[in-house]
Amino acid sequence: MSAYVLPAPISPALPVVGASALFPVRRVYCVGRNYAAHRREMGGDDRDPPFFFMKPADALVPPGGTVAYPSQTQDLQHEIELVIALGAGGADLTADQALDLVWGYAAGVDLTRRDLQGAAKAKGRPWEAGKAFDASAPISAIRPVADGGHPSGAIQLSVNGVIRQQASLTDMLWGMAEIIAQASRLWRLEAGDLIFTGTPEGVGPLVVGDRVSGAIDGVGEVAFQII
Ligand code: MN
Repeated sequence: MSAYVLPAPISPALPVVGASALFPVRRVYCVGRNYAAHRREMGGDDRDPPFFFMKPADALVPPGGTVAYPSQTQDLQHEIELVIALGAGGADLTADQALDLVWGYAAGVDLTRRDLQGAAKAKGRPWEAGKAFDASAPISAIRPVADGGHPSGAIQLSVNGVIRQQASLTDMLWGMAEIIAQASRLWRLEAGDLIFTGTPEGVGPLVVGDRVSGAIDGVGEVAFQII
């Protein structure tokens, strides 16, 4: 066994509802524009196919954390999303095979520097500065599918107790199985991968001091403060 020339980074991991063992995270995939009303509010077309981007796994903020208002933005925004946690891998899957990979689900927030994302879109540049910054992915504990099943209920997000986003998971244009199958045609998926499945309409700005609370029926709650 070889030693490292530097201290090795700690592998990101998330708590699990009802268990002391942690869920080890490998990659974090995200789907863009997966609810028709949000797609329209962002200026898209309902016929656009979904697309993927990524966040680094160490951008996750486990439950109980706070989020420092990020640098280089005047327009930090919230996006509440169902997160799929994979317990097995695969490639070139059909939708019929895809749900067998699911280990659990979480509630996550895809924090976005909307101004930097908009500038990147306008110039055809990558989205990392707008989407993949430090602490850009607050998330709940993972609810095992063995306990909670596959969710299909309400998804919502409140800021300082006022509801900003409220929809149903059944409003998703591409369901969980289709998202997993589509991702598996682009990358070989592995146990430990997370997939943020897109946000409903009502995204909006956050400021220092805001208390953000998101909830998904049958999955869990994600709560944090912007400091
Ligand atoms: Mn999103």
